[in-house]
Amino acid sequence: DTRIAKISSVIRVIPDFPKPGIMFQDITTLLLDVGAFRDTIDLFVERYRGKDISVVAGVEARGFIFGPPIALAIGAKFVPMRKPNKLPGEVISEEYSLEYGTDKMEMHVGAVQAGERALIIDDLVATGGTLCAAIRLLERVGVHVVECACVIELPELKGRERLGKTPLFVLVSSS
Ligand code: IMP
Repeated sequence: DTRIAKISSVIRVIPDFPKPGIMFQDITTLLLDVGAFRDTIDLFVERYRGKDISVVAGVEARGFIFGPPIALAIGAKFVPMRKPNKLPGEVISEEYSLEYGTDKMEMHVGAVQAGERALIIDDLVATGGTLCAAIRLLERVGVHVVECACVIELPELKGRERLGKTPLFVLVSSS
């Protein structure tokens, strides 16, 4: 797909951000290219339209950029999966481990119902820890996670294996 090559070419890589040794994949340059941004959304919409998905769950922060246009195009609601203490209503939360320490992800109680079918969106999967926390949050309330979708995968970190039975779809693999 020529669209994938274009998308890949407009993702900027910034060395040593946020700390030495990290090659940061920066999707803000993808957002500056109207055609590539539109193609990114279209590729996801083409995959998920007609798949009976009622929930698009976006992971803070960059899942909030890609998730809503996909949700609108496939006729699903958008549910933000947020960092702790950001959501004003009653929440359920799930802890997950980072390189150093732990973090938490929260979702509003009542945003989704048992039996719904969800798609989880983020910009990038590295170790898969973040997506796993999102999967656990949704599964705890009886939602079926159809698939996780990201723009970029860092395959060396084996996030795909960590997700287990939940499929992962990505547009670009980066080594
Ligand atoms: P994981 O939990 O190890 O899979 O890390 C994925 C999370 O970290 C996602 O929410 C990403 O947005 C973020 N992340 C990790 N590395 C990068 C990067 O190079 N660019 C943008 N986001 C990143």
